[in-house]
Amino acid sequence: MAAYKIIDHTYDVVVVGAGGAGLRATMGMGVAGFKTACITKVFPTRSHTVAAQGGIGASLGNMAEDNWKWHMYDTVKGSDWLGDQDAIEYMCREAVPAVYELEHFGVPFSRTDEGKIYQRPFGGHMSNYGEKPVQRACAAADRTGHAILHTLYQQCLKHSCEFFVEYFALDLIMDADGACRGVMAWNLDDGALHRFRAHKVVLASGGYGRAYFSCTSAHTCTGDGHGMVARAGLPLQDMEFVQFHPTGIYGSGCLITEGARGEGGILYNSAGERFMERYAPTAKDLASRDVVSRAMTMEIREGRGVGKDKDHIHLDLSHLPPETLELRLPGISETAKIFAGVDVTREPIPVLPTVHYNMGGIPTNIHGEVLRPVAGNPDATVPGLMAIGEAACVSVHGANRLGTNSLLDIVVFGRAAALHCQATMKPGQPHAPLPAGAGDGAVARFDRLRNASGTLHTSDIRLAMQKTMQMDAAVFRTSKSLADGVSKMYEVAETKGKLKINDRSTVWNSDLVEALELENLMDCALATIVSAEARKESRGAHAHEDHPERDDANWMKHSLAWVENGKVRLDYRPVHTWTLTDEVQYIEPKKRVY
Ligand code: FAD
Repeated sequence: MAAYKIIDHTYDVVVVGAGGAGLRATMGMGVAGFKTACITKVFPTRSHTVAAQGGIGASLGNMAEDNWKWHMYDTVKGSDWLGDQDAIEYMCREAVPAVYELEHFGVPFSRTDEGKIYQRPFGGHMSNYGEKPVQRACAAADRTGHAILHTLYQQCLKHSCEFFVEYFALDLIMDADGACRGVMAWNLDDGALHRFRAHKVVLASGGYGRAYFSCTSAHTCTGDGHGMVARAGLPLQDMEFVQFHPTGIYGSGCLITEGARGEGGILYNSAGERFMERYAPTAKDLASRDVVSRAMTMEIREGRGVGKDKDHIHLDLSHLPPETLELRLPGISETAKIFAGVDVTREPIPVLPTVHYNMGGIPTNIHGEVLRPVAGNPDATVPGLMAIGEAACVSVHGANRLGTNSLLDIVVFGRAAALHCQATMKPGQPHAPLPAGAGDGAVARFDRLRNASGTLHTSDIRLAMQKTMQMDAAVFRTSKSLADGVSKMYEVAETKGKLKINDRSTVWNSDLVEALELENLMDCALATIVSAEARKESRGAHAHEDHPERDDANWMKHSLAWVENGKVRLDYRPVHTWTLTDEVQYIEPKKRVY
């Protein structure tokens, strides 16, 4: 193995990721006085959060009466009763102060005529326990993520947090007792390897949408935190629940926010029918995402798709007042023009359900502590390791996330992680020496990939993985498609051994970056498809044609997937059916209709 220069650092806290979750945690750690480093593979304000459009959910009640208990009810129902109700209570209750806090930090929210934060309707958000749609999504036009990310980055700088920009985190440093002691990273700029020692490592590395062929996620969404956790011998939770957003632009996958339907946009089939009235008589086009995506897929399958191949659906905004389009949806009008060649004031946008969000991820409690369930204690935690944001599964989204609840999740739990550290640690505490050989495993993996000299390019293997996932772990799943998918994915994963890297450089080597990301994506893809194959019911985003009903008696439980030497081992842990306070009652499961 080549000799690599390793540079050592010591921090109280290291946050991996500078999206909304990572920046909110980093800022909170800085405010609490911790010496904090934030490592990110892209410049902070280029993190995927920048793409979030429609809004952040909070029952401010600025447009009409609202209540955080209604928000909690909608989130539990949206999750198809797989979400943990204690975590959901925490998130919906904290949503209101969290959004006002963002406003005070400087997020330029859109305003009502009275100067309050503007709120729009979003799928699955209803008033009075499911009665009619409510305006709960707090929006900064259709660039809410952009506004939040830039504001949080400025706050981090104000609190003197240190950034390691364009550093690629490779692997966790774990000790013999199973505690996390730090993280190894590669500086893309000069090729040096860095060993970060910390009392807490917070993974905020985002989702893994790029395991699929067509997705709305940025190219950086490669499940790197998930891969690090899997290699540390820890499980991933509920990976079978992958959200398809109803309105990705046909052909490009670019997102048209649900806010477009929130502002009055309507979906039509080739008969010119507003078909959502048949599938969701009350919420119609604003039913929850899994319901709308399935309805669109049914229309296409039954021959009522639009276009030459009848393989997509129309989203019409042309009846909306031009000032609404200009003021509330300026980015959407531009996106539709660039990616579909459509003038939304006159023509419908061609859309198709597209992979958008990962409900599953690294299991945590409401403080962001990572779980390592053991017999007799499904909520045991891993010392020194935390996870937040889309990388984590806390689980507030269960089997299906409601729109606006991810920006909320990243802010609320980023803040919760910092509050937990503040309550349990003191800044500047001494560090025990690292175990001998700390980080050697990460260096060996880096070296192995860098020198891979097989016959297949990273892009060949990645494409095979993405096509398999797109084909066999899609909106509708059958026993056969899933079983075929599992064996194909295992075959694809085997081909990693034939990887060929063209460039041996340690500096700005995009081939090596992509190979490292591919290993992470592959673990995510395997965990997703194997967990999906095992779940014999339909719940939220997991629609199984051979088991079309939800089965609470046997399947109201979280899947846990360990990826060990290329094979997936499954186990389960119970859903939390308690609430944090007696202000709310457990929300009993019932059939999910909109
Ligand atoms: P990200 O923003 O993805 O950040 C991940 C960070 O981790 C990045 O800084 C990256 O550099 C870093 N990272 C990853 N791997 C490594 C590594 N190996 N080493 C170092 N750094 C690493 N949700 C809503 O609630 N409302 C919306 O309106 C909304 N609109 C959306 C629109 C689009 C087009 C999309 C795709 C999603 C939308 N979402 C929305 C979802 C939401 O934007 C995301 O779930 C959320 O922003 C994820 O934030 P995050 O901080 O967890 O991760």
